[in-house]
Amino acid sequence: MALIERVTRLDQTKAWLGEIPIQSRYTVGIAGERFFREIQEHGRFLGTRCPECDLIYVPPRLYCEACFAHLEEWVEVPTTGYVYTYTVVHQDLDGEPLPEPRLLAFIQLDGTDGGLVHFLGDVEPDQVRLGMRVEAVFKEKAERRGSILDIVHFRPVKG
Ligand SMILES: [Zn+2]
Repeated sequence: MALIERVTRLDQTKAWLGEIPIQSRYTVGIAGERFFREIQEHGRFLGTRCPECDLIYVPPRLYCEACFAHLEEWVEVPTTGYVYTYTVVHQDLDGEPLPEPRLLAFIQLDGTDGGLVHFLGDVEPDQVRLGMRVEAVFKEKAERRGSILDIVHFRPVKG
């Protein structure tokens, strides 16, 4: 397929695999620093609340996306929620099959207007349901590094 033709299927294009060395450093920002520090030190989630809109942002924001108010009220929010949506991943980024399928979900956190994308664990793919109640499982404190991976996964709430 020549380059002057319209590409309608990516698998029909010529491609060369290569590597470009890139270094980057991405800061999580002021609100993100506090959010991840709280996870690392206390195994808790913090959000910010807009007093005008009564929205609770998780991950926290410093400005309300609805009314642009500066948000200064930090609130602890539950580490529980429900599966808003999910997918089952069978291949890695190179298209190689994973040893086991992995479950990725958006978890709507209780009492908030936000949530987190994370792995589901302790559950089989055919057992996952939209609306399923889940809770965060944290690494042991000594193993936490102030990252989203301080959360091992979300698992179904028992009982
Ligand atoms: Zn607002």
